Parts: sequence; structure tokens; C-alpha cells
Amino acid sequence: MAKKLINDPLDVVRESMEGVVLTQPGTTILRDRTIVVRKDRISQGPGTDLPVALISGGGAGHEPAHAGYVASGMLTAAVSGAVFSSPSVDAVLDGIRTVTGTGGALLIVKSYTGDRLNFGLAAELARSEGYDVRMVVVGDDVALADDDDNAGRRGLAGTVLVHKSAGALAERGGSLDDVAAVAQAVASGVGTMGLGLTPCIVPGSDEPGADIAAEGAELGLGIHGEPGIESIDMAPADALAKRLVDTIVTDRGFKSGTGVVALINSTGGTPPMELSIISRAVLNLLQGKGLRVDRLYQGLVMTSLEMAGCSVSLLAADTREDLLDLLDAPTGSLSWPSQGSSEAPDLAEVDVPTAPEIADDEVGKDDAACSAAIERACNALLAAEDELTQMDKVVGDGDLGTALARGARSWLKDPVKGGAAHQLRALSAVVRREVGGTSGPLYAAGLLRAAEAVGSDGDWAAALRAGNDGVQQLGGAQEGDRTMVDALAPAAVAAADGLTAAQAAAHKGADGTSERTARRGRSSYLGDRVVGHPDPGAVAIAVWLDALTSSPTDA
Ligand code: ADP
Ligand code: MG
Repeated sequence: MAKKLINDPLDVVRESMEGVVLTQPGTTILRDRTIVVRKDRISQGPGTDLPVALISGGGAGHEPAHAGYVASGMLTAAVSGAVFSSPSVDAVLDGIRTVTGTGGALLIVKSYTGDRLNFGLAAELARSEGYDVRMVVVGDDVALADDDDNAGRRGLAGTVLVHKSAGALAERGGSLDDVAAVAQAVASGVGTMGLGLTPCIVPGSDEPGADIAAEGAELGLGIHGEPGIESIDMAPADALAKRLVDTIVTDRGFKSGTGVVALINSTGGTPPMELSIISRAVLNLLQGKGLRVDRLYQGLVMTSLEMAGCSVSLLAADTREDLLDLLDAPTGSLSWPSQGSSEAPDLAEVDVPTAPEIADDEVGKDDAACSAAIERACNALLAAEDELTQMDKVVGDGDLGTALARGARSWLKDPVKGGAAHQLRALSAVVRREVGGTSGPLYAAGLLRAAEAVGSDGDWAAALRAGNDGVQQLGGAQEGDRTMVDALAPAAVAAADGLTAAQAAAHKGADGTSERTARRGRSSYLGDRVVGHPDPGAVAIAVWLDALTSSPTDA
């Protein structure tokens, strides 16, 4: 059985809807039903004084659709069927009766045969009971041709734009005619195209309902885990986004200069990080076509369980004069992906703040010996890159060699001249920018302290001691914790007797780390498993200290 956070598969929909009600303010659920309604819109019959009710729904598995949109400014009720299957006529009728009064009700239905029939018949029955009920069918799927050869274009994530705009007008007290007109305009205008990367598994089954090639993607998907209209090879996000955007723009016939609203939806398994990359790509693509992007929304809007993938929905902003205003209007739904934002997307980058200028007297007289020593230390770290990385793979995450080499390379590309203190400060800044991880800030702190201590006569022993103090203070490690401090601290003490003594102490300290478990850093999670392997950070200390020997300053 597929691993899912569920109880009995038969209880999935009801239990998840209870969870929605518990976390979405102002909602409640009908006893023994999978129908979520606004608490403040309960009807006592067709004569109850109530504004227009907006009712939507369909199969479950598309969360937060639809119960997540039951809130002020969006839906009045959401009627859910089982996963991926339409609710019954009676369920829809229960929903209508619960929230419909004098204002009547608009049913917003995604164009799937089952939904159309169940909602359609429920509307008819409700009318016979005296309720004023209209229905708008959304078929925003541009992957399918709009002709007689199929069951018609399917309803996809664009449906949520219908909920939002019609919901805003209903909240403002719009009449059923007006609310239905907005819903119809948005439903007719919006175009959506989906992309699936991985299949989804219906709760209770072992296997996905449809195959998606392990290395490929499916273009032009519905929302029920079915395959799309075309299997394509995986490609970078920009190229995939282009396929979606091009298809919609061509289908909708958007002309350059048109303002559009874009909705980027995760099909469930795609994380926000990737979705943001798609949003960015969609914006660039639309602007590249000369279109103006008036609103850009991103989120989990209409999902297909855990399917990885996305859909893009585009709607012309001039579909209605009041469209942006309705989309910007507040809603109590926590799932609508824009809480009160009414801005067109704009990167509007700000400049990086400039660091204060360094005065000439702080630069000092050029110290060639110091330059040569740093250069040798950098080259030694480059030569040891692979070895350190291998060691870090065993006891850490395998980035130490590359991280230190990145810093060394950056320094060697553009070494800063000046007095020793100035060079060490500059080296600290390079390390700070380039090295990262744990070593980056620790080395940067040590070098900054060393710069303060080195003095105009090049007191290297003092510099090493101050550097070690800096590392210990920032990192909180003591000798014996199995870190770089195990090599650096004894070296700093021995430096009083010269650099050769410091090197010997560093080697001895680094060797000793093999016998210890770590109390600091990533290795500390590995317990005894690091014993027998030296700490790479400590070995790195010995590597660059060794390289300092041939420095003329300590001959
Ligand atoms: P990570 O990838 O774990 O963030 P690096 O790969 O940059 O870190 O550096 C790993 C080295 O950092 C370790 O081998 C150890 O010598 C050193 N280290 C970890 N924690 C500390 C600490 N608190 N103080 C001093 N050195 C530390
Ligand atoms: Mg590491």
C-alpha cells in the first residue's frame, strides 16, 4: 500500500474536510456529509434573506479546492465527492438548500461529465423547490481542441479565478445576474495548461492510476492524475514553462500590449521553490511577448493529490472592467494565494549596499612577504582540495575541500596588496563571501582577529593566538571537541617557539582528532562512526600552516 498519512481510505475526504473546518475560520460542515459551508450563511428555506450563494465542488483530491475557498469573498459552500469522483445529485442539493435564500445560488462547476450531470440535476430539483439557481461551467483547458470530438474542455485551476471574482461581487451584494455574468466572463476568458512530472496515487490503492515516464513529463493534463495529451522529454523549467505559456497565449489570441492575470498552480507535489522558478519564467515569457502582467499569483490552488507538476492559467485583465478590483478584494480564505496584494509583479531590485571606503593609512606599506605566504597557503589548500573533500565526505557533508578551495581561488585571482593587517582583513572578507558552511565564518572571524593582532612588525605568533581566540569564541569549540581548534589552539601556543613548532603542534593535534568523537559541527551527529578518521577541518589547519614555512619572514 502506498505510504500516506491517512486512516481508513473511506474516511479520507470527511476527515480532511473536518481538518479544513478546524483551521479555516467561519466554516462548518454538514453532519455526516462532505459539504463545508459558511457558518454565517445558513438558510431556513428559499425565503431566507441571504445574499447570492456561490456553490462549487467536485471530486476530492484537489485540495485546497474546494472547501479551502469557503470563506467571505469566495465560496459559500463546497460539495465534495469521493477522491476524483463527482458528488451525488443529493449531496449538491443538500449544499444548495443549506446556504441558498432570497439571493439565489450560482453553481460553479468544472466541466467534467459527472459534475455537469450531478450539479445540473441538483439545480433543476432545487428550482422546483423554489430556489433561484444558475450554473456556470468552467472549461479552461486549452490542451484540448474546443470541438465536438471530445467531451469538451475540462475545468482546471482557472476555476479558482472564477470563484474569486464572482465571490467578491457576491460579497458586495451583487445580484445573481451580475454574479453569474462575472463568473461566465472569467470562465470564458481564462485558459489553463497543465504539466505533470510524477503520477499520483488515489488513497487506498497501491499504484498510480496512470503512468508518467520516469524520465519524461506529461503536457496538457487534467486534474485526475490522468496522462496528458503529449509525453515530452524533461527539460529545464524555462523551456517547460514556454510550452505552457505559448499554447495558452496562442489559444487565447492575446495580442501584444494586453494586460494579463497569471495563476501558477502546483499540482500538489511540486514545492514552492520550483513553483517560484516557474512563476519567474512565466513572467519573463509573457513580458517577452509584449504582454503586461497585471497580477501574478502562485500557490497550491487546484491539486491532483501528490502529483508533481504545475499548471499555468492566464486571463486577460480587460475581461471585465472590474476584474482586477474583484481579484484584489479581501477574502477570508487562507488558501487564496494572494492575501490583499494588489500589485503588478515587479522585481525592482535594490542596489547592494557599498562597504565603507578604506582610508590609505589603513592599507599600509605593501608587505611582500605576507603576500607570498598567503599565496602559498592558498596554493596548498588548492592542492589539498580533493583530499579534504574526501575526508569531509566520511565525517561530514563533503564540501570542505571545495569550500576552502573556492576561497583560495578567489584570493589568488585578485590578491589584495598592502600591509599584513590590511591583507588579512581583505582575506577575511574574501573568505566570508566565498567559503560558506561552518568553516567560512570561523576562518573569517579568525582572520579578522589575526589582522588586529599582527601589528606592523608582523607578529605572527600573536596573530595565530588572536585568530584561534576568534574561532573559539564564535564557534564555541574547546580543544578536544574534535574540530579545527584541536590543531589551531596547540599551534597558537607553540607559535611562541617559532613556526616550525607551531606546525608540529598542528599535525599532532590533527592526528589526535582520529581518536575522538565530535562535540561540535556536523560530525557530532555521527557519534563513534567518525573514530579512526581525522577531522578534516583540523587537517586543513596543518595544510596551510605547513605552507607558511618557506616564508622568508620565519627563516
Ligand atoms: P559544514 O559543511 O559542516 O557546515 P565545513 O565543511 O565548512 O562545515 O567545515 C567542517 C569543519 O568545521 C569540521 O571538520 C570542523 O573542523 C570545523 N568545525 C565544525 N564546527 C566547529 C566549531 N564549532 N568550531 C570550530 N570548528 C568547527
Ligand atoms: Mg562540510
